[in-house]
Amino acid sequence: MSSRVRVLCPRCKVDMDYISETVKSNSGIKQLFRYYRCPACSYRLLDEKLSVNVNGESLIIVFSMGSKRLLVIENL
Ligand SMILES: [Zn+2]
Repeated sequence: MSSRVRVLCPRCKVDMDYISETVKSNSGIKQLFRYYRCPACSYRLLDEKLSVNVNGESLIIVFSMGSKRLLVIENL
């Protein structure tokens, strides 16, 4: 028996799509956004944001949103 989490748009009450999107900025920071998007009205509900900052000797990974997780790894 399997189950599936359904997330409904607060406006339209329809199933939202789950999207993963990677954005790279000029400063070397990569950001991964995971969010739900309503196919009808394009309403976005951010689930998780992951930032990866690679500069020189350090790698910083930050998880945020939802559970307020925060993980930072430096000097790898
Ligand atoms: Zn909607």
